[in-house]
Amino acid sequence: MTTTLPEPAVPGLDDSTPTAQHLIDGEWRGKADTPRRNPARPDELAAYSPAGGTAEVDAAVAAAAAAQPAWAALPAPARGAILLAAAALLQERESGVAADLVREEGKTLAEARGEVKRAVDVLRFFGSLGWAATGEVLPSGLPGTGITTRREPLGVFALITPWNFPIAIPAWKTAPALVSGNTVVLKPAELTPLSATHLARALHDAGLPAGVVNVVHGPGRVVGDALARDPRVAGLSFTGSTAVGSELRDILGARGARVQLEMGGKNAVLVLDDARGAAQVVAAGAFGLTGQACTATSRVYVTPGIRDRFVEELVEQAALYVPGDGAVETTRMGAVVSRPQFDQNRAAVRSAVERGATLRHGQNDGDPSAGLLFPATVLTDLPHDDPAVTDEIFGPIVAVLEVADYEAGLAAVNDSRYGLAAGICTDSLTRSTDFAARAQAGIVKINRPTAGLDLNVPFGGVKDSSTNTFREQGRTALDFYTWGKTVYTGI
Ligand code: ADP
Repeated sequence: MTTTLPEPAVPGLDDSTPTAQHLIDGEWRGKADTPRRNPARPDELAAYSPAGGTAEVDAAVAAAAAAQPAWAALPAPARGAILLAAAALLQERESGVAADLVREEGKTLAEARGEVKRAVDVLRFFGSLGWAATGEVLPSGLPGTGITTRREPLGVFALITPWNFPIAIPAWKTAPALVSGNTVVLKPAELTPLSATHLARALHDAGLPAGVVNVVHGPGRVVGDALARDPRVAGLSFTGSTAVGSELRDILGARGARVQLEMGGKNAVLVLDDARGAAQVVAAGAFGLTGQACTATSRVYVTPGIRDRFVEELVEQAALYVPGDGAVETTRMGAVVSRPQFDQNRAAVRSAVERGATLRHGQNDGDPSAGLLFPATVLTDLPHDDPAVTDEIFGPIVAVLEVADYEAGLAAVNDSRYGLAAGICTDSLTRSTDFAARAQAGIVKINRPTAGLDLNVPFGGVKDSSTNTFREQGRTALDFYTWGKTVYTGI
């Protein structure tokens, strides 16, 4: 089963191509006529989706607002049970969903299967939290008085998601919102409409009441902007670029609504002389997921004693990450998601080389019209302020710079406008402990790739990477979707 999405095919369109549709008030709607091509095989259609506008946003928010009181009134375990049922359906559909994800996003089948499994586990985790305590009992200084705390839902949430984890990110925003008693309108990335629709489909088929989850496809500057401005939307969770996130922060902030932003990164790893296996750690963080992860490694600082050996081993690793069609089981690295992203990767490498960088691996002179395949790229001999070292590129490109010692390396790691993930490779407990304390990043990885997190841990960064008020994932995620109440009872 490759296509579990709803009909209807649009007359005149190739009806073997899966279609995504809006989900508004429990109904699948919209003329799915916007094509999406497979980035690894541009002559193959991956999906059709509808381009929604302000009318669809209005209808979806109205449906979400109407459905919210009854949804919140359901016992939390009953809300959780629907998430658990959706998890079971998504698991049954895993191979078809993963195949669609590969075709529309370009990552490898193994990565896509892992991502679908992650969405299943996220639904299970938050579904089970339907049974968990949501408040505390506190002692009062007053006689005959009991105090409890409660968490209450806010109402309607807008969720705006990117293409790089097209089902996991919608899942890790939707599930905590729902189990807390909120309803949502999800705006998936235009490039990957199918994956988020599969999530909504599983929830819908699991018996979610109409209006609790709504999906509106379409351009971010139309659909996303209308959601951000709608006064019925109590809060917005966004993952994407720092530029768009900053605009959304202003819009939501101006009307006092809650906002959670996960944005860019320029994640560094510090490799010290006593490191073992650092090249594998860096390669996995830099080239896994085609480097298209906000936690991907893109800067490496190396101390002089290990520098030459590390670069040599990293180049050997890079040679293993041969890009190809993710649908082929043996492909080690998938395609770049879009032509603009491909061109951005190519321009970043070319201009770094023009400024004097050495290209140690990753000559790119292929023809992207045959498939957006970009090589694992290693650059050395760059100054610390080179744009390839300071600016997010979002491709399988890593810059390696030498630093005199640990202190200089730590300072270089922290010398960034971003602060999402940071890593250190060392055998020294003293150094790694100090690094964990002093790295300006929301996630610190010691001898592990910067990319990749368990689903039960808080996720987010500092500086221009995130709003650091609310973290995503794990139990902490529930804080964003709820507000706290303190209740006194005379007994
Ligand atoms: P990326 O570079 O990863 O595509 P974007 O920030 O452009 O990151 O997109 C992330 C999400 O934000 C997508 O769903 C996109 O449609 C949406 N988006 C883009 N522009 C806007 C905007 N002006 N307002 C709201 N959402 C937007």
